[in-house]
Amino acid sequence: MVVATQLSRQGHEIVVLEKRHVPGGKVSAWKDADGDWVESGLHVFFGAYHNLLKFLDQNDLNDTFDWRTAEMIFASPEYGLAPIKFVPGLPAPLNGLAGVATSKLLPLKDKLRVGVGLMQPIFGDQAYIDRQDNESYASWHLRHGMGERALRDVMDTMALALNFARTEDVSAKLMLTALMRFAQETDASKMALVKGSPHTRIWEPLIAKLEARGGTLELNRKVVDILYEPLTNNVDGFVLDDGSIVRGDVYISAMPVHSLRKVLPDALREMEYFADLRHLKGRPVITLQFFFDRQVTGVNHLLFSSHTDISVYADMANVAPDYSTGGPSIVQFVVAPADKLINLDDEAIVQHVMADFVRLHPVASEAKLVKYTIVRIPNSVYQARPSVDQYRPDQATPVPNFFLAGDYTQQEFLASIEGAVRSGLRCVNRVERYVQHVQHAGAVCAPALS
Ligand SMILES: Cc1cc2nc3c(=O)[nH]c(=O)nc-3n(C[C@H](O)[C@H](O)[C@H](O)COP(=O)(O)OP(=O)(O)OC[C@H]3O[C@@H](n4cnc5c(N)ncnc54)[C@H](O)[C@@H]3O)c2cc1C
Repeated sequence: MVVATQLSRQGHEIVVLEKRHVPGGKVSAWKDADGDWVESGLHVFFGAYHNLLKFLDQNDLNDTFDWRTAEMIFASPEYGLAPIKFVPGLPAPLNGLAGVATSKLLPLKDKLRVGVGLMQPIFGDQAYIDRQDNESYASWHLRHGMGERALRDVMDTMALALNFARTEDVSAKLMLTALMRFAQETDASKMALVKGSPHTRIWEPLIAKLEARGGTLELNRKVVDILYEPLTNNVDGFVLDDGSIVRGDVYISAMPVHSLRKVLPDALREMEYFADLRHLKGRPVITLQFFFDRQVTGVNHLLFSSHTDISVYADMANVAPDYSTGGPSIVQFVVAPADKLINLDDEAIVQHVMADFVRLHPVASEAKLVKYTIVRIPNSVYQARPSVDQYRPDQATPVPNFFLAGDYTQQEFLASIEGAVRSGLRCVNRVERYVQHVQHAGAVCAPALS
């Protein structure tokens, strides 16, 4: 949508093809038979998301978010709820360090070890962090003397929220990049949640703007093949699942990497650039919503946990004013790691998550579960394992009129919404260069883009 919006502004004719019945991908939402919103994932936005915030602003969407204090509330069956509050009024990194120092989450000894161990990323630069990509965060953390307790109680929680896996399964670069942003920029840790469903708050207004400029977004239009002409080294069309072919002058894939790999013809698959995509695999994750007959959390903020299979959750009845205000709880959960759970049937997953939730909020055992929704995403964000970052592709492919966008492509951020926006802006930049080149050669005036 970033690519489509920016290029339609420049006067290009845009066709967006979306395979599902709803727009928005991993940030989509739709209504169930009762008229309740089902979300594909609970999303939190940070002050560090400069490109996303600017993009929303440019599109008159600056009323999308409910901003809240920079605070991570950790939930555990052993110690209940324990926040780390970034201290307002202090500049970074002092706001975060003071937050850790005043939290009851870790004993003093561990706090000191974390403070010393993180000095290098706090005062370091991205080049240093990039060099840490071939090691897992767990190994990096222990090598820097920060100990098992901080790893399990704090860092695992962060890794689960960032990449749906524990610190053994994510690269040090992933974690250190996020930590560096928070440590070097005072407002980076500010958090926001969408005021309601992303469908009405983000996608509908963006699509209306695209259509007002003559662009279209076509739902239920799945790309199943890419027509590639080796003699000219050009893409000639996208084949859809109904057999029709959509043609344009420039083609952009904003599919996730596993979907792109399915539709690449052999001639492209053999090129090293596309062959490298096999190293980027998706993480499984499950989103659940529990509708209770009463309030069970009493919390108006996001919650994190590493001691159960619930990694991040929030009571939508409290955090999203469009949904409800303080009514019966609608708790939305991100379940991760989900490798073992994703193939179980709905009932088994619901029972498992409910048991975990009651351990975190015992009062929920007295409440009635009125209904639930469940969304399985077998391939969500790419697995940011050690040594994988080098395989993230640039947005310009070896085929001059074919480009990639998506959170997995090269950009400074992780697989995130800000990352997806950055990838889109980089893609636009490459398309502009190509269009200028082609116009210079006198071939086309305003290419149609698919
Ligand atoms: C449960 C969950 C929680 C998350 N929480 C956060 C968070 O709190 N903060 C954050 O910043 N990020 C979060 N993320 C990550 C964030 O959602 C993604 O990084 C981002 O949305 C990726 O955007 P994208 O455009 O690259 O891909 P997607 O959103 O996956 O979009 C790709 C689109 O391509 C379509 N498509 C696929 N194949 C085809 C085909 N063959 N033909 C046509 N269309 C096709 C898909 O249907 C989809 O609409 C979360 C993700 C999940 C799953």
